[in-house]
Amino acid sequence: MDVPWSRVHSWHCNACGRCCKEYVVPLRAHEYLKLKWTGFVEERYGRFYIRKIGKNCPFQIGRLCILQGELKPIACKLYPFKIRRKGDERAIFEYGGERFYVYVDTFCPNVVLGRPSESLKRMIIEAIQIHLGERRDIESITCNRKLLTFKSQVDT
Ligand code: SF4
Ligand code: SF4
Repeated sequence: MDVPWSRVHSWHCNACGRCCKEYVVPLRAHEYLKLKWTGFVEERYGRFYIRKIGKNCPFQIGRLCILQGELKPIACKLYPFKIRRKGDERAIFEYGGERFYVYVDTFCPNVVLGRPSESLKRMIIEAIQIHLGERRDIESITCNRKLLTFKSQVDT
């Protein structure tokens, strides 16, 4: 269920991988073109998606994602945050003089409801910046943690 960010205290990702099995990932057109060579993307009625194999994302190995950096879809980078142009008043978040409507998906077991923490607000700013294409590097949201987990497993 998507809840307005103002109802969320905090969130962290422990790379459980559940969201990758639950959802079909929408792609922007340039992401579709970038991943087309893999054969694991598809177009349906003018929209683009990762093509699942059964319930699984083809880019998930175990619990972890092999797409990192430029290749990881923006929807995956943002999860569990969802940024919309319309929504309810409790979801309003002002950034750069603009108004965004930010929701958080409570399907992720690590979303904690309550009074928003400062770290949650920083994550939302980061998510909006990624959504707008203002930043590419990830400091505190999902994909970086998955990468770190993956690296630490490879290193040991
Ligand atoms: S975002 Fe949540 S559901 Fe997805 S991998 Fe991280 S902890 Fe698991
Ligand atoms: S591309 Fe990576 S993060 Fe996105 S659903 Fe697939 S495995 Fe998960």
